[in-house]
Order: sequence, then structure tokens, then C-alpha cells
Amino acid sequence: MRFSILFAPTLKESPAEAEIISHKLLLRAGMIRKVAAGIYSFLPLGYRTLKKIENIIREEMDRIGAQEMLMPALQPADPWKKSGRWDQYGLEMMRLKDRNGREFALGPTHEELITDLAMKEVRSYRQLPLTLYQIQVKFRDEIRPRFGLMRAREFIMKDAYSFNANMGDLTASYNDMYMAYNRIFSRCGLEFRAVEAASGLIGGKVSQEFMVLAEAGEDTILYCGTCDYAASQDVATSRMEEPSTEEIKKVKVVDTPRQKSVDEVSAFLGVPADKIIKTLIYKYDNQLIAVIMRGDRDVNEEKLATVLGTTNFHLLTGAEWQDYPGLVQGYVGPVGLDGIRLIADNEVSLIRNFVVGANLEDAHMINVNVGEDFQVEEWADLKMVRSGDACPRCQGTLISAKGIEVGHIFQLGTKYSEVMGATFIDEDGLPKPYIMGCYGIGVSRLVAAAIEQNYDEGGIIWPVSIAPYEVEVVVLNYDRDEQREIADRVYTELGKMGIEAVLDDRIESAGKKFADADLIGIPVQVVIGTRTLKSGNIEVKIRSSNERKEFPLDRAVDMIVELVKRMRADVGVGGNSVEQAG
Ligand code: ATP
Ligand code: MG
Repeated sequence: MRFSILFAPTLKESPAEAEIISHKLLLRAGMIRKVAAGIYSFLPLGYRTLKKIENIIREEMDRIGAQEMLMPALQPADPWKKSGRWDQYGLEMMRLKDRNGREFALGPTHEELITDLAMKEVRSYRQLPLTLYQIQVKFRDEIRPRFGLMRAREFIMKDAYSFNANMGDLTASYNDMYMAYNRIFSRCGLEFRAVEAASGLIGGKVSQEFMVLAEAGEDTILYCGTCDYAASQDVATSRMEEPSTEEIKKVKVVDTPRQKSVDEVSAFLGVPADKIIKTLIYKYDNQLIAVIMRGDRDVNEEKLATVLGTTNFHLLTGAEWQDYPGLVQGYVGPVGLDGIRLIADNEVSLIRNFVVGANLEDAHMINVNVGEDFQVEEWADLKMVRSGDACPRCQGTLISAKGIEVGHIFQLGTKYSEVMGATFIDEDGLPKPYIMGCYGIGVSRLVAAAIEQNYDEGGIIWPVSIAPYEVEVVVLNYDRDEQREIADRVYTELGKMGIEAVLDDRIESAGKKFADADLIGIPVQVVIGTRTLKSGNIEVKIRSSNERKEFPLDRAVDMIVELVKRMRADVGVGGNSVEQAG
């Protein structure tokens, strides 16, 4: 490709709308353009990277025997009504009607359509296992579309679905996917971790997310510094400390005028926050629930949702407190809190002689103990695990990091097949629901995630496997015959040798050309100028390390080819040993 005709409208300044680095650089490098909030066009350079990622995914899906297909984005409401998600999905689903008033949606995902297809076409256990996938556009009317390709409303996803006859086969399909995902993200040159995850609306039990580690990530993960435990914060647990052996003291009410928050009570009474037990009042379905937990901890509402079996609850709001005159806001405690379901975080069981609200204005109780002063019938792990907590698997300590979710694999089991009545005839002649798995990759989100991990002040630093081009030949004076002849020869020969090259043949200043080359981030820059003619050497710059090499003119092409091949091998899967799914 010649730069003089390439459609890559680069920008010197970052557009104001872009908050994070990948969004800024994708716009500046002329790779994407915004159409509307969360909706983008891919320009030629951005599209090349997208296609490269897609092809890596394709190769690895095909390698494990998954078969590519394509389903429509426009989906009738029927299968969604069958699964119950037409009502559950809420505002994130883009809905529309055709001219006859029939209901449709722009697919946010494809479990319903694929299950419907399998139900009609896959009748016997002999046709199983079957894994199908597609790389296709998805629509989600996100509350806050932002960060460019990261959280878009129209985006590209790879979604795969496995149909199995039994749990053992599902585990095998899931493990194949797990391995394929590891190879895909390694081949994209990314630093990532597979973490235990919550299953959310999609459903099912076993699930793992693949997180690209980057500060701009919207997710928090916790991983052990010693063993391979890693989990998303939504589900992370930690090893509990030893229970207190303090002698049990006698409970007592003390005055704490105007001291409401844990910090205030802690300072006022001179008691550390981890010996104060706070009581949080939640409301759902006109019912109140009291959650008690250590004062220095936060409630993990994802875990609470799992315990309650719904996400439809909230902390009692300021106005709602008026409806319950028996509850003294700021001084609620578990002692004598009758008629309200009480759930205690497991950690409360370790502490003795703690402080709680006294259910009286301006008063707390000290020396409170479970079993002595109140009873707990429901225990659960409800705490938000944080950096420094103990690893649940070994003696190590957990570390927290920000991650970008680029993939998610689920063992769905019979969640969809059962409600939709999708069955096959098993070996024993009986109809059974398919055991299913589903496996997503945010293909367009990966483009942004790769940049979040690979950039410097000059611009993007593409891993060679997903770079729009591998080599950029920068000619300083294309209007001078000698330079043009060398540049054209190098560019043409590189192409013949299977190297993807772009030739910057524009009549622009050297400064502009170098700045654009760094911004666009092609891994190898080859510079041809007056110095080349004088020294007989071509200058080669490695974008990632800034390392500069001199290659003699007569051997330059071979040496560049060698260099690119070595870089390709470095992001291959060969060197990365990948472990079995956890
Ligand atoms: P998130 O928690 O980020 O909203 P999700 O749990 O809704 O993700 P899935 O339904 O598992 O995502 O979709 C599969 C993959 O699609 C995700 O792992 C992610 O990489 C990608 N993805 C999801 N939502 C978006 C979006 N709005 N824009 C770009 N990619 C997305
Ligand atoms: Mg989502």
C-alpha cells in the first residue's frame, strides 16, 4: 500500500471526546471515526487490524473443530419470548417492529437463535458434540457507551455455542475453548489472565473471564501472588483469619451522640473499624433485609444477588427510612431487630466483643457477641475482597489489578434448552435437553485493549500479529530519483517475500512522516534518505524498543524479512505453555 493513496486521516491533537488512550490513538491514527455515541466506522487501517484479530480467532476456533456460520443480526421476538429473556433483557436490547407490527430485536447475543436452530436440526446424540461459531455484529444499548470501541453500542463479537449430550462432553468442549482462548490472546501479543467469573444474565454455573491487564479496565480482578488463583472481584473470595479467642464480655449500651459512620464511632470509642459490625438495610419486594459485616469492609452486591436470587434490591434510600419509624437511621444494629431477615457475612463469626448500633438515637452497644446477644441463622460470604486479603487456595496474598474483559466462557448446562424445549434423542432412546456452553470474545474491544497495553508518547505499538502492516518504508525524499528507486525496490521485494508493507511516498516533511509512522505504530520502520545513499546502509527502527539497526543495502530486504519472521514467531503460541482449565 502506498501512503499517498491510503485513506488514513491522522490527527495531530486528540479529539476532546476521547478519555482513554486507545480511543485517542484510534482516532488520531485515522483508524476509526465516530458515527454516533457508541457507533463507529472502521477506516482501512483499523479494519485491517480487526480482520487480523478475526483471522487469529478463526484459526483457533477451526483448530478445535468449531464450525463457522453466520446468523442474522435482526432477530424475531419469538425465541426470546420462549426463553423468557424478551422481558428480562431490559433496555439494553434494541427493539423494533416491522411494517406489519411484528416485534424484532437487533441481537445483543445469539443463544436463543442457535438453540432454536439446534432444536430443529439436531435430533440425535449421534450428531453431538457440535460447536458452532460466528464473528458478527452485536447491538447493546449500553447505559453509558464510552471509551470508543471498548464499550460500544454496535460491536463485533465472536460467539460460539457447544451442544453436548452429557456433562463430561461439555467439560471437554469447555476445556478446548479455554485452551483456544489462551492461544488467541497470546497470539494477539497480550498480557492477560483467565479469572473465575459470575455468570450474570446469561446464566449457568461455571464461567471464566479473560482479562487483559490494563489501567483503563472497567473490571477489577484479584489474583494470588503465589499460586494461580485469579477471580473477578464480583466472585473473589479470601481465606478467613483465625477466630478471636478473647473472653466474652458483658454487653453494654454506651452514648455515641451524633456518631453515625463507622469512622466516627471508631474514633469516638477508640475501637478499630474491624471490631465494629455495621448493619446495612436493603429493600426488595417490600421486604427488608439486614446485612451485617465488619465495619472496614464493603458489601459485594453481586454476591448478595446470588444469595437473594435476584438483582432487584437496593440500599434503603433516605426517603424510604421515613416508612420505617422503628429503624433508627445511623444507629441500626442486629440486637433486637425483630421481623427483619438477617444475613451475616462469614467474617462476623470470627469476632468477639464487637460494637453495633443500639437501635436507639445516639447510642451503640459494645461487647456484643453472636450467640450471646443475638442469633444468626443465615451466614454467607458477602464481603468485597480486596488487595492484601489472604488467598483462599494457598498461604499467599491477593493482589488487585484492573482488567478489560475480552472474553467470557460459560458452561450453560440446560438453562436455554430446557425452557425452550430443545431436546435430542439420547442413546437410551429418551429425549433430553442439550447440555450447552457459550463462548464470547469482544473482537472490536480487543483492538482497543491491545492499544491500552502497547503504546508510548509517540502513539500505538502494535504487536506484529495484529498490526495493520508489518513494515513501513519511510522515504524522506520520494521526489529524488535515487531514493525513489531504492524505496520502490525494497517495498516491492518485501511484498514478494510475503511481508505486509506500506510505503510512505508522500511529499511531506521528514518530521511529519516520522510522527505518523510512530502514531500508526507499524512494528518495523525502514528509513531511506540521503544518509542511505552516503553510507550504503538502510536504517531500521523497531517501534517497540526504539532500537535502531543499520542493514547494508544489498542484503537489507533479506535482513528485514528475517527480522519480521522472528517477531512473528515471538507472538506465536509455540513458547507459551498453556494449562488446563481450572
Ligand atoms: P461487560 O461486563 O463488559 O458488559 P458482558 O458480560 O456484557 O461484558 P458478554 O455478554 O459476555 O459481555 O459478551 C462477550 C464479550 O463481548 C465480552 O467479553 C466483551 O469482550 C464483549 N463486549 C460486551 N459488551 C461490549 C460492548 N458494549 N462493546 C464492546 N464489546 C463488548
Ligand atoms: Mg454487558
